[in-house]
Amino acid sequence: MPSEKVIIVHFGELWLRGRNRGSYIKILKKRMIEQLEGEAFRLESLYDRFLIRPDSEESLEGIKSRLSSLFGISTFEVSYETEPNLESIKEAAGRAMDELADFPVRINSHRSHKGFDFTSIDIIKEIVALAESRGIDASNHGYKSNIYVSVTKEKAYITNKKERGLGGLPVGSSGKGVVLLSGGIDSPVAAWYAMKRGVDPIYVHVHAFSNNKDAYDSKILNILDILSKYRKNSIVYLVPSHLFQMAALKSGRYELVLLKSFMLGAAEKIADKENAELIFTGESLGQVASQTASNLRSEQLGIKLPVLRPLVGFDKEEIIKIARAIGTYEESVKEYKDVCSINSRNPKTHTSPEKLKEVIKSTGMRKIISQSLKISSRESARGK
Ligand code: ATP
Ligand code: MG
Repeated sequence: MPSEKVIIVHFGELWLRGRNRGSYIKILKKRMIEQLEGEAFRLESLYDRFLIRPDSEESLEGIKSRLSSLFGISTFEVSYETEPNLESIKEAAGRAMDELADFPVRINSHRSHKGFDFTSIDIIKEIVALAESRGIDASNHGYKSNIYVSVTKEKAYITNKKERGLGGLPVGSSGKGVVLLSGGIDSPVAAWYAMKRGVDPIYVHVHAFSNNKDAYDSKILNILDILSKYRKNSIVYLVPSHLFQMAALKSGRYELVLLKSFMLGAAEKIADKENAELIFTGESLGQVASQTASNLRSEQLGIKLPVLRPLVGFDKEEIIKIARAIGTYEESVKEYKDVCSINSRNPKTHTSPEKLKEVIKSTGMRKIISQSLKISSRESARGK
C-alpha cells in the first residue's frame, strides 16, 4: 500500500500541565475543530498528538495554513504515513526526497516501538543508499535539509519539514478576559497576547458613532475579522461614548484619564456579566502623554479585576512589527473616528487619585457607565 499524507500536530507546553492536561487537550481540540471549519478531514486523538487526515491535497494546504494561527500547538508536520517495514519506509522516504530542493540531506530516525527486526541505523542506511542511487548527497555534514522517520508499533511516519506552531496555550484554557479594543495599532496586539496565554477574549469597543450599527459596520469589524483567525466566534460589545462625552465636557485636561476610567468601569461590568476574570488594554508605559505611571494608577481607581497590559515592555516599533506579523497593522492605520482623538489635545500627565476621585464623583461616572451599557449592544465578532 503506498504511503498516505497526514498532518501530525504536537501540543508543546500542554505537557507541563500535569493533572489538567486532559482538559487542556480537550480545549485545544475544540478550538482546532472550530478553526478548521469548512475543511474536509478526519481527526484522530492520540496520547501525545493529533493526527489529521485531509480528504484531498487542497484541504491539506488549507488546514496547514490555519494550524499556523492556532495557539497551543508547538509544531506540526505533513508526514507520509506507511506500514512499519523497511520497504514501505523507503518508498515514503523516496517521495519525501522528491520534494526537497537543497542538499545534502540529513536522515534522522526514531523508533518509539522497538519490537521490529530492524534498527534506526538500518533505516538510515537504506535511505542513504536510496539517495545515493539517485545521485543525491545524504550527509550529516553541512546538510541543508532533513528527512525524519518516526516508527510506532502500528505505523511509520516520514516527513521532510517540521513547521513551527504559534506556541502558547489554547484559547479558553485561562478563562475569559475583557479586551478593551480601539481602532488603533496597540490593542489588537494586546488581544493577541491575551489569547496566546489562553484567554478567551470578550471585546469591548467604545465608539463615537450615533448608533451601534454604524460602529459595527466600521473598520472595527475588519480588525475583529483578522483576530478571528486566532479565535473564531468571539463576542464584541459596542458601547456609545456620547453620554460620557456630555458629562465630561467640563473635566478639561482630566478628560482622557476620565475616559479610561469610564472604559475600565464598563469593561468590569461586562466582565461580571460574562464571567470574565481579567481586563486587557493595549497601554504601554510612557508611550504617550496619557500613559504615565500616575495616570495608569488613577484610571483604574475602584476597579477590582486585574488590569493586564501585555505591551508594557514593548517599544512602539516592536509593537508595529508584531501588528504586521499578526495581520492587523494595515487595518489599524486606516482612518477612524476614534473617541480618543476628539479629546483634550493636552492631557494631564499627572493625576492624583484623590483629585480624580472627586472628578469621577462630580461627573456621576457610575450612572453614566450603567446608562451607556443599557444602550450598548452585544454582537458576534464573526467578521464580514
Ligand atoms: P491603541 O493603539 O490600542 O488605540 P493608543 O496608543 O492609541 O492605543 P490610547 O488611546 O491611550 O493609546 O489607548 C490605550 C488603550 O485604551 C487601548 O490600547 C485600548 O485598550 C483602550 N482604548 C482606547 N480607545 C478605546 C476605545 N475606543 N474602545 C475601547 N478601548 C479603547
Ligand atoms: Mg488609540
